[in-house]
Amino acid sequence: NEMMARVKTQIRRKKYQDALKSNYQESVSLAITDGLTGLYNRHYLDTHMQNMVQSSLKNSKAMAMVIMDMDHFKQVNDTYGHDVGDEVLKQLARIIIGATRSTDLAARFGGEEFVMLMPLTDFKSAYEVSERMRKRIETTPFKVSHAVGEILKTVSMGVSSLNLSGDSPEQLLKRADTALYQAKNSGRNKVCPKDEEEAWELAQALTPMAPKAKMDAALPAAPIPAAPMPAPEFSYDQNLAFKVQQQKALGNLDDMENAARTEADKKH
Ligand code: GH3
Ligand code: MG
Ligand code: MG
Repeated sequence: NEMMARVKTQIRRKKYQDALKSNYQESVSLAITDGLTGLYNRHYLDTHMQNMVQSSLKNSKAMAMVIMDMDHFKQVNDTYGHDVGDEVLKQLARIIIGATRSTDLAARFGGEEFVMLMPLTDFKSAYEVSERMRKRIETTPFKVSHAVGEILKTVSMGVSSLNLSGDSPEQLLKRADTALYQAKNSGRNKVCPKDEEEAWELAQALTPMAPKAKMDAALPAAPIPAAPMPAPEFSYDQNLAFKVQQQKALGNLDDMENAARTEADKKH
């Protein structure tokens, strides 16, 4: 009987500890991910973009950024309601996860705006990935609980790539955002700029003070070498990609938890 009582106490303790652990993981996960889509949140992007950009510059590795914004998203809310808008955003997030590699950082930047930061990816590859996504979204209806059943939507995207002779996360973001603005202004359902030459012109337009000769000198002599990895395939195995992303988040959780444990152990 005493044995039974002890076992029961142990079980109760274990359940309590598990509950604590899962509460902790949930709150950490909410701090780094967006509740609606499960993608990383803006804060996480801002923090990690700094390190990722610094590391690419230091190792002279290509890096690209893509900003995506759904076209006339407000119409979805206005026509079908906010909940249907949420359903569309969730599905869009899954499409993004399906199109990104596990080393990419995909984040919800704002309401219906998303950012993908892609290490070891040059401009051309990022443009191709974006174009594939744009076409896929244009032709694949979003499934919604509203009586209408399906809704067709489009997205606009802005692409930028890291200038290895000197750049910053803010400038990279600014160029992608300006490109997005260009895509919106030239009719939406587009990826801008369409090639590296246009991207260069855009960069120059953003820094009009820099003398032409100085800008030319800053250009790498040879084009940035293509990433040693194969071009990312657009995969519709979104579940798998989502799990990879989640695992990545859990990896971070484990590290943070271990760090917290070590601190706690020291105090005993
Ligand atoms: P554009 O093509 O110029 O991007 O037009 P738009 O309608 O997509 O852009 P606008 O910025 O006018 O509207 C964005 C809308 O997104 C407004 C806002 O109510 C909605 N929104 C932002 N966050 C959420 C969300 O979490 N859920 C839902 N359902 N709607 C959201
Ligand atoms: Mg929009
Ligand atoms: Mg927007």
